[in-house]
Amino acid sequence: MPADPISECPPPRLILVVEDDGDLRELLVRLLRPHAGDVLGVGSGAEALRAYAVHAPDLVILDLGLPDGDGSTLLQRFRSISGAPVIVLSGRDAEADRVAVLDAGADDFVGKPCGSAELVARVRGHLRRAWQSRQRMAGNGYLRAGALEIDLESRKVRRGDLEHRLTPTEWALLRALALHPGEALTAQRLWELVWAREYGDPSLHVRVHVTHLRRKLEADPDRPSLIVTVPGAGYRLTTDSTPG
Ligand code: CA
Repeated sequence: MPADPISECPPPRLILVVEDDGDLRELLVRLLRPHAGDVLGVGSGAEALRAYAVHAPDLVILDLGLPDGDGSTLLQRFRSISGAPVIVLSGRDAEADRVAVLDAGADDFVGKPCGSAELVARVRGHLRRAWQSRQRMAGNGYLRAGALEIDLESRKVRRGDLEHRLTPTEWALLRALALHPGEALTAQRLWELVWAREYGDPSLHVRVHVTHLRRKLEADPDRPSLIVTVPGAGYRLTTDSTPG
């Protein structure tokens, strides 16, 4: 991944581009690729919603006119899942349109056509502010993992406006993973940290509880993106400050 000399924040893991005009979508993907680990382009609202839930992008570029609905409805759905910055890119740039989109929760509005340098600058600005806000949260005992916000002090886990209710064991497991961000912990280590056991076979026990936690927290529990299995090494929580 090329270095990003201007901004001090690490390159984001994933940018999602939602645009039904294939040529423009390709152009945007190519334009943003040097500034992110990956850039995913989709052409419809349905694909966008799926990609948003499964991949928890760090930033979204959203076209308003989509073949299967209006981008502003999509924007509200995004907002109920996470706070990742959304930049609306639209040809409808009357003041009333801009205000409606910003009221619906967009972080920025860019009229079409838009200069590439300006768009990249805005993308970087939003990513930097989001990153700084995550750093402040981490300093206050908050941690972000994809679409999840974990508050280590008050033992709360939120996805957008939704608060997840965890059992004490599930919470202890999530906390153990969250306190070792980006690090894979073996079943044996989790067994010691969560259950304070030193002997016995932990693998089945830990696997069952990891499965419970994934059912509650993952957008797609069969293809986990938050609590990932690292073959031969154990389980790792993918947090935003330590991209997986
Ligand atoms: Ca369009």
